[in-house]
Amino acid sequence: MTYQIWSYLSAGSFKGYFEQVDLLVVLLAAAIHDIGHPATNNDFLVKTKTELALRYHDTAVLENFHLATAFELMRSRSVSMLDHNLPSPPVTSLRRRIVEIVLATDMAVHKKQVDEMVRLVERNVNRQEIDKRTLEQYIVHTADVGHPFRPVPQHHEWARRVNEEFLAQGDREKELGFTPIEMFDRDKAPPLPKNQLGFLQFVIQPLWKPMEALLDSKARPASLFLHRNIKALATCGARRGEIHGETDRPSPVVRRLGAPLYPQTRCYCNVFLDRATMYLNCLYDIFLLTISWSILEIWEPVLI
Ligand SMILES: [Zn+2]
Repeated sequence: MTYQIWSYLSAGSFKGYFEQVDLLVVLLAAAIHDIGHPATNNDFLVKTKTELALRYHDTAVLENFHLATAFELMRSRSVSMLDHNLPSPPVTSLRRRIVEIVLATDMAVHKKQVDEMVRLVERNVNRQEIDKRTLEQYIVHTADVGHPFRPVPQHHEWARRVNEEFLAQGDREKELGFTPIEMFDRDKAPPLPKNQLGFLQFVIQPLWKPMEALLDSKARPASLFLHRNIKALATCGARRGEIHGETDRPSPVVRRLGAPLYPQTRCYCNVFLDRATMYLNCLYDIFLLTISWSILEIWEPVLI
């Protein structure tokens, strides 16, 4: 997703805006942004007074931890991804950009980031004048919460997993004598489709708006999936309001390939998984394999 956005933005009115080194910064930040994640959020780490919260002064605890872990790992394994002997850009500035990108994945700064992007997009008719640092932070943050831009079954599977993580945190909070927020409380949480629909309408849609303006026609597939996900969730919520336990039948394509290219998914109601989506999934996986291969080819001379 990160690479996809980056590559789309490297065309059209952004031609020449990004350089190869920008790709290194953005992809490295995306790769490390959740390293060592303990499956609980910042709020949990702060209120349970963990060692990590103490170390990072209750501020962007996880994001600071991911960064420190990644850079420690690179140093201990002598994998200096950013080192080079060229006069510019300085290694410290590359590192600084990665730090800023990962710190900007903190949902606490989501609103500020969206407002800033909206302002930049409105103000800069000439896209080349948009601030690169703000844009690269926005790209990775959008990709980080990007599962609503995937086909309906994949989005539902991610939503289910994220929700399970929240509920597991709620269980731990109860064990420790805390009262979890309603959304994290297994006994009180509203139906997942309702929650997820709210997340898509009030968090994801405003986040996607500036990107839609920047990507222009290239934004269409992602916008279409977002629209379908909203529609599927709204339909589910209206009908039953809860997740069904049954598993979707694999499509003929997946059956012919033997093993599924992605895990079979649980779904809300039986409204999705039409064949067209399955074909799109396969094409998308092939597309991802192709770009992964291209990245390896581009960076092979640098990395070896
Ligand atoms: Zn993440």
